[in-house]
Amino acid sequence: MDRQVDLVIIGAGPAGMAAALYASRAGLETLMVDASAPGGKLLKTYMVDNYPGVPSVSGPDLAVAMYQQSVSFGAEYMYGEVESISKEKQVTLKDGSIISAKAVLIATGAKEKQLNIPGEADAIGHGESFCAVCDGAFFRGKEVVVIGGGDSALEEAQFLTRFASHVTIVIRRNEFRASDKAQQEIAANDKIRVIKHHIPKEILLTDGKVSGIVLEDVEEHMELTVPCQGIFPFVGHVPETEFAKGLGILDDRGYVVANDKMATAVPGIYAAGDCKAKELRQIVTAAADGVVAATEAFHQITGI
Ligand code: NAP
Repeated sequence: MDRQVDLVIIGAGPAGMAAALYASRAGLETLMVDASAPGGKLLKTYMVDNYPGVPSVSGPDLAVAMYQQSVSFGAEYMYGEVESISKEKQVTLKDGSIISAKAVLIATGAKEKQLNIPGEADAIGHGESFCAVCDGAFFRGKEVVVIGGGDSALEEAQFLTRFASHVTIVIRRNEFRASDKAQQEIAANDKIRVIKHHIPKEILLTDGKVSGIVLEDVEEHMELTVPCQGIFPFVGHVPETEFAKGLGILDDRGYVVANDKMATAVPGIYAAGDCKAKELRQIVTAAADGVVAATEAFHQITGI
C-alpha cells in the first residue's frame, strides 16, 4: 500500500529509533521501515556496558526500551525491504509499494563480513554463524573458533564460553584491536586460547557440517588445521546500502557520505549510524547521528 509521510527512516536500529523519537516528538509524521525486527545489531549483542546512563544491559533489552520510546510519540514501524530511493524522495519497497516523503533518512547499518574462503558457502548455517547470541546455545560442549581481534570478536568469544567446551580466537597480527577491558576478560578466561599470526584459509565439512578450519601462518605460510564444530567470524562489516547506489552518495566502500548535519549531497536525504562514512561506530554515536539527522530534517520540512 502506498504511503505519504513527512520523514521515512530506512532502518530501525539505534540510529533509526533515536531519529524516530526526535522527529515524532517534534511533530513530524514519521515511519521506520526495516526488513527485520526493530533493534538492529542490538538484537545480536549479548551485553552493552558502554551506553551512557545504563551501566549494563542486554542488547535485546536495550532494543526493546529504545523501540518503545521511539514509538511513544507517534512514530510507526513497518516491515519492508527497500528496493530503491529516488532523488525525489520516493522509497520503493521490494513488494512494489511506494512511500513518498519530504525527507528520507538512511540508517540501515552494516552487516557482518564473510571470510570468502573455500567451504564457507556450505558452512553458513551448518556450523558457521555470525551471531553468538542467536546461535551460541547450539554449540554446547563443542569446540568453537572465533576469527578476528576486534571488540565484536572478543566479546562474542567470551559469551560463547557459556556453551562451548573451548573457544579459539584467531587473529592475523600480534595484537588485538579490541579495548583493554575485552582483552583482560579473555585473558582471564580458561576456556579461551588465542592463535596469533594466522588467517583462515578453508573451512572443512564432514557430512555437511563444519568439522574444522585450516589456518595459514602469515609469516611462515605453514598450514594448521583446528578441529571445531563452530566458526564465528567477526572480521568487520559492510554497509547495507545497495538500494542507494543510484543516488551517487556512496563512497568506494559503499558507506553513505554525509556532512556533520547528516545531510547527503541529495537535498532531503540524510544518513545516520553505521552505514555512514565515519570513524567511530558505537551505539551511542549511531543514536547521536539519528538525533542530528531528525533535527535537520525537521528544519528542512518546517522551515523553523
Ligand atoms: P573491527 O574493530 O574492524 O575488527 C575487525 C577484526 O577482524 C580485526 O581484528 C581485524 O584484524 C580482523 N580482520 C579483518 N579482516 C580479516 C580477515 N580477512 N581475516 C582475518 N581477520 C580479519 O570490527 P568489530 O569488532 O566488528 O567492531 C566494529 C566497531 O564496533 C569498532 O569500532 C568497535 O570498537 C565497535 N564495537 C564496540 C563494542 C563495544 O564498545 N562494546 C562492541 C562491538 C563492536 P586487524 O586488527 O589485523 O585489522
